[in-house]
Amino acid sequence: MTDTIRSRLDAIRAELAALALEAGRPADAVRLVAVSKTKPADAVREALDAGQRWFGENRVQEGMAKFPALREAYPDLVLHLIGPLQTNKLKDALETFDVIETVDRPKLAEALAQAFAKGPAHTQGLRTQGLLIQVNTGEEPQKAGVLPREADDFIRDCIERLKLPIRGLMCIPPVDDEPSLHFALLRSIARRHGLETLSMGMSADWRLAVPLGATHVRIGSAIFGERTVEPKA
Ligand SMILES: *Cc1c(COP(=O)(O)O)cnc(C)c1O
Repeated sequence: MTDTIRSRLDAIRAELAALALEAGRPADAVRLVAVSKTKPADAVREALDAGQRWFGENRVQEGMAKFPALREAYPDLVLHLIGPLQTNKLKDALETFDVIETVDRPKLAEALAQAFAKGPAHTQGLRTQGLLIQVNTGEEPQKAGVLPREADDFIRDCIERLKLPIRGLMCIPPVDDEPSLHFALLRSIARRHGLETLSMGMSADWRLAVPLGATHVRIGSAIFGERTVEPKA
């Protein structure tokens, strides 16, 4: 079998379903978000042709450059922002991404609340339907996300005071740590707040995330191949 985007997608989907069943979950319990950062629109199109519909980009500009044209052909594609969001890009992000996974600080939460307060999303041309809060489970200084000890207050504030459409949590474990500890921590925080979405697991560790309750895994290089250009922050 030749090694193509389609063949890799098929293999990951089959394994994802098998691992979900093994964990006592429905075969389709975990959504595969294909992370296409730094990859050309043609690679995304190949994935779309192979039936993939959920995608992740880590930069607002790159999402804006690639996806509007692809949406014309595939109106049902769903795009997640998985990288840091600066408030000066907020409007662009809200018009481009269906889900923003990286709500990570009070200032951004306040700005989102202001944007949503202007009226129903569709009347403003906003696309974003749901938000996830990024938790810095490894407490790494260089990484975005709220610290675990601040997470409860931040989540409550986002939901109760700011009325943000928070659906769940996401994390990126430290590279040298046991990912399962971080996935379990993220799940325990989400459970305290009755949040259902858990975005956790990347090319190297997604198999560990499935039994720990991931609802979304974000997989890039295992689908599209290694990145030859570094994504810009
Ligand atoms: C790049 C990226 C991924 C995908 O990483 P791979 O190791 O290529 O699967 C997942 N999540 C985030 C937040 C990323 O920036």
